[in-house]
Amino acid sequence: MFRQMFEEKYMRFPEGKCKALTFSYDDGVKADKRLLQVFEKYGLKGAFNINSKLFDCENWHGRMDENETFNAFKSCGQEIAMHGARHIFMDKVPLCEAVKETVDNRAYLEEKFNVIVRGMAYAYGGYNDDIKRMLKDCGVAYARTTHSTYGFGIPADWLELDPTCHHTEKELAPLADKFFGGSPLKDFKHREPWLFYVWGHSYEFDDNDNWNIIEDLGKRAAENKDEIWLATNIEIYEYVQAYERLVFSLDGERVYNPSARSVWIELRGKTYEIKSGCEVAFDKE
Ligand SMILES: [Zn+2]
Repeated sequence: MFRQMFEEKYMRFPEGKCKALTFSYDDGVKADKRLLQVFEKYGLKGAFNINSKLFDCENWHGRMDENETFNAFKSCGQEIAMHGARHIFMDKVPLCEAVKETVDNRAYLEEKFNVIVRGMAYAYGGYNDDIKRMLKDCGVAYARTTHSTYGFGIPADWLELDPTCHHTEKELAPLADKFFGGSPLKDFKHREPWLFYVWGHSYEFDDNDNWNIIEDLGKRAAENKDEIWLATNIEIYEYVQAYERLVFSLDGERVYNPSARSVWIELRGKTYEIKSGCEVAFDKE
């Protein structure tokens, strides 16, 4: 074994998987209904980011009205997330107005869908440091930007969650080839888990007549589901939080999991499941 692999610990996703795929689709438009069917067909998971005071703007890329929105998402098995009450640039209004934009949206979605809503996608990708601080105070766990990383890293700042790419970008195809064909396990120095995060608007599949893009991602994800965790944004956030709460001994050879769920970790090429409330000593070889 390479000496470099002797101490380094790597997060693994549930069941020890080292790749995760998630999606984020904005605005609550009619084409979301077809997208939900595609997600259902292939087992894909993601966040649908919904405004709550624009239900009457039907000429805005086919936004759904209130009833249609509720019926589309009420038991869809996907994450319901915030996108601001009125889809405004939150960084271009007084902070108190941005607070209202956030809490109105969160209160509506939580009450309507009877769930806890902690995720957000910034409308127009608009934010600044004051907005990020405000969102934290409002209990928002993560907020997605529109800046592509073209990488598979785990977000360092969840209130500035940069996606891998938008589904129309030319980089998507080579990134998908790398993601489905490769693995961090093939590298001995860079074994960090891969998160492939794709975002967009479902009406763009209609506008560009390219539903094949999401069908293709879905097919490849389903074919490789034994090694890819298909999860919503908030599930990935919660999992990473649990991993980061792991408590290690001074020499790094024992680990305790204080969280309420199993967490997986790789050390020296071996993957361990650390069950909730359990302490584990790593094998020495
Ligand atoms: Zn939007």
